[in-house]
Amino acid sequence: MSALSSSIQGVPESLREEGLLARARKLMAEALGIDGHIDTIQRVVMGEDLGKRHDAGHVDFPRLREGEMHAPFFAFWVPVFFQGAEAVRRTLDLRDAMQSVLNTYQDRIELATTAADIERIVKAHRIAAFLTIEGGHTIADDLRVLRTYYLLGMRSMTLTHARNTNWADSANDTPAHNGLTDFGKQVVREMNRLGMIVDLAHVSDKTFYDALAVTTKPVIVSHSSMRAISNVPRNASDDMLRALAKNGGVIGINFGMGFINPKDAEKLRSATNAEAEAPTLTGKALDEYAAKNAQKLFGERASVVATVEDVADHIDHAVRIAGIDHVGIGSDFDGIAATANGLEDVSKMPALIAVLLKRGYGEGDLKKILGKNFLRVVRQVTGE
Ligand SMILES: [Zn+2]
Repeated sequence: MSALSSSIQGVPESLREEGLLARARKLMAEALGIDGHIDTIQRVVMGEDLGKRHDAGHVDFPRLREGEMHAPFFAFWVPVFFQGAEAVRRTLDLRDAMQSVLNTYQDRIELATTAADIERIVKAHRIAAFLTIEGGHTIADDLRVLRTYYLLGMRSMTLTHARNTNWADSANDTPAHNGLTDFGKQVVREMNRLGMIVDLAHVSDKTFYDALAVTTKPVIVSHSSMRAISNVPRNASDDMLRALAKNGGVIGINFGMGFINPKDAEKLRSATNAEAEAPTLTGKALDEYAAKNAQKLFGERASVVATVEDVADHIDHAVRIAGIDHVGIGSDFDGIAATANGLEDVSKMPALIAVLLKRGYGEGDLKKILGKNFLRVVRQVTGE
C-alpha cells in the first residue's frame, strides 16, 4: 500500500484493494489538475500561511500536492455586503494578499494569465495561480475598474454573487432586471474584448441565457452542480447544460453539501441568507464584520449526508447531458461550510478520481475533467 492510500481516511476499502487509488494518483500526477474555483485567498487575508499544512480550511500547498491538484483558479470572493468603492477596495486587498503569497513562495507558485502559462508552470511542478473575481459588484458599475482588474492579472469574473448587481440578476435574489441590462451586456462584450472569461456561476437563469446570447467566446460555470439531482437555484438545469455545450463552455462541479445532496440543501439555504444583510460599515469596521461572518460560515463542519459517490453522480449526469468535453472540477473549497464526505479537503481528490475509474472512465476522459476542458476555454478566451 502506498503512503498516499494510507493517508486517505474514510475511503471505501474496495478502492484501495483494487489499486484504484494508486492508479488515480498516477494519472493525476500527469494531469493539469485545474480546479475552476477555490476561495482560499480570503483565508490569507485573515492571516493563514498557505505554505504550511493546516487542519482548518480546505486548501494549502502541502494538501494541493497530496491531492495532485496543480492549477486552482484563485477566486477573489467579495461578499455582497461590500458595495461600490468598498467592493473595489476589498478586491484590491485580496489581490494584494495573493501577491504576498506569490512573492513569499516563488519556488512553489507562479501567476498564470494564459493557457500556455498554466501548462508551463504545471510542467515545472509549481502551482499555477489563475486569478478570478467572484461577483460583478466588484467593478462598481465602471468598465474602467474592470479593465484595471485585467491589468492586475485577473482573467475571469462571475457576473453576480448572492445578490443582484445593478446590471445582472442573481440566482439567489428576486429578479430586478429580467436578466442582463444593456450595461450588463456591455460588461460581457468588454470581457470578450479584453480576454476575460465570463463566469455564469451564481447568475439567474435569465441572466445565463442573456449572457450566452451576447458572448462571442466560450463561458464557464465555474462552481455549480446538477439541478436534476439537487434542485437549488445555484445548480444548472439540463437545458442550461445543453446551451453551455453549444457555446463550447465548461461547468465545474461544486463539492458543497447542499449542491450535491438534496438532504443537505435546506442547510445551504439558511447559510446563503446569512449574507443578505448589508451593514452600513466601511473600512476596517467592515473588514472586521467580514472576518466575523467568515468565522460563522466556516467555523464548524456541519453533519453532512453528501458523499464522494454523490459527487461522482453529478459528474456522470453532466457528462451524459453536456458531453465529456464540457465538464470539470469547481470544488468551491474554502468557500463552502462543508464538502461531501470523503472529499473533506483537496488532499482527498484522488478518492473522487478512483471512484470515477471504478465507474469506467478512461484516463483520457479523466484528464479532460481534470483540466483539459478548462484549459481549452482559457486558450480560446485569453488568446494564448
Ligand atoms: Zn461562489
